[in-house]
Amino acid sequence: MNEIGHFIDGARVAGTSGRTADIFNPATGQVTAKLALASEAELQRAVDAAKAAQPGWAATNPQRRARVFIKFVELLNAHMQELAELLSSEHGKTVEDSKGDIVRGLEVCEFVIGIPHLMKGEFTEGAGPGIDMYSIRQPVGIGAGITPFNFPAMIPMWMFAPAIACGNAFILKPSERDPSVPMRLAELMMEAGLPKGVLQVVNGDKSSVDGILQHPDIGAVSFVGSTPIASYVYAEATARGKRAQCFGGAKNHMIIMPDADLDQAADALIGAGYGSAGERCMAISVAVPVGEATADALMAKLIPKVEALKIGPATDASADYGPVVTKAAQQKILGLVEKGIEEGATLAVDGRSFRMQGYEDGFFVGSCLFDHVTPDMAIYREEIFGPVLSVVRAASYEDAIALPMRHEYGNGVAIYTRDGDAARDFASRINIGMIGINVPIPTPLAYHSFGGWKKSSFGDLNQHGPDSIKFWTRTKTVTSRWPSGIKSGAEFSMPVMR
Ligand code: NAD
Repeated sequence: MNEIGHFIDGARVAGTSGRTADIFNPATGQVTAKLALASEAELQRAVDAAKAAQPGWAATNPQRRARVFIKFVELLNAHMQELAELLSSEHGKTVEDSKGDIVRGLEVCEFVIGIPHLMKGEFTEGAGPGIDMYSIRQPVGIGAGITPFNFPAMIPMWMFAPAIACGNAFILKPSERDPSVPMRLAELMMEAGLPKGVLQVVNGDKSSVDGILQHPDIGAVSFVGSTPIASYVYAEATARGKRAQCFGGAKNHMIIMPDADLDQAADALIGAGYGSAGERCMAISVAVPVGEATADALMAKLIPKVEALKIGPATDASADYGPVVTKAAQQKILGLVEKGIEEGATLAVDGRSFRMQGYEDGFFVGSCLFDHVTPDMAIYREEIFGPVLSVVRAASYEDAIALPMRHEYGNGVAIYTRDGDAARDFASRINIGMIGINVPIPTPLAYHSFGGWKKSSFGDLNQHGPDSIKFWTRTKTVTSRWPSGIKSGAEFSMPVMR
């Protein structure tokens, strides 16, 4: 059985703790590898290597640091098929979707090729008599990233690309469900010219996360995962004086106004609700048609489309989506569907009995569509993270907008309408971080920043884009005066610029 270790000081190393976790192929349900779970000593080795490498890397001029990413982007493109197949074999998403996962990370690597420009500071000449003032951005030192299973290429790159481009060393603790692509990314970064020790992958579970949170030499922690863990990581990291950005779960609504193009809206809901088996933090899991006529017409369009969805293993190029990540996830999703029925929602498309022929032990979940869902139901309140779309009927625009505004999560939201005034009012009033106007999944591109509000995000700086440069650097401001003035004697009153 293949055992996956860690990536420390520029090379793969075997695990030594004796603790392992099983890696599954979600399509077959079979264990395909054992993952070593790091001990405290292994994390310490990674920190020691990072400490040794970081000062030299920070002193490397930013153009040279950028060149590593130019080469890395080339390597990602050259290895795209291999990486996508590897990703699919542990995650379960279709190979085409895995390419999307990789490309959305690659785009952040392209963004940080601009690091010489992005890190330029500010300068004021003549801030006072003979005084210049300037602000520079310096790396934090050693950063760590703790990532979820659902984007094992994209989210690690969202973190390590800006962190490393800014001159930090970085320790990645990927999800223990699908660690193989993160390990390959570290190897490709070395091939691209990154000095050893600047990027390490420490595989592990809660104990490695706690080790990172408690380590005095790690100055910044970026986390993406479920909300309870995000809030725990944020509290523990900040209590120890680390900077932290922690992104959590979601329940993204799409409001469909009576004037919307219903064909477009229905297609958007299918892709955004069921793509990647609903295992996306920006998936739409709640559709809110406004008015009974809109709701009836929307349901009439959705039902045949949901029934026609093709489920298959990642290797089936014609599949719309693959299995979910684990048996536990499959059981949780099916349990919530049962709860929805018990609580009185109408299961308009029932995927509960779906079995994938030839893959009976795989973690497949048939497509489900609920109508007449209400805000008190578990399927509305909780993140299902599966191929289940809930329709909540609203009587008016105000009733519709109140739903996502009152929900504890605030990652993404969308409105479908032809009315510019409604769209403008919506974008202005809604208390959610990422807004789509006739766009179902409004994930910002690499040069803007990504992040939600409310329980979807803890901390104040978002991922990638301009915020990431701020997160992975500290500002230092220098006030300098050269000769003469200081020789004329001490100054006792506050200098003011009148
Ligand atoms: P998860 O919270 O179970 O795991 C995330 C990371 O935390 C993993 O690396 C895991 O090893 C670690 N972890 C798990 N339990 C822990 C514990 N008790 N203490 C310390 N660390 C622990 O999340 P997941 O199931 O891998 O990912 C799915 C979740 O991630 C969903 O809730 C999804 O919405 C969210 N997500 C959010 C975003 C976003 O940007 N807001 C993006 C992607 C995924």
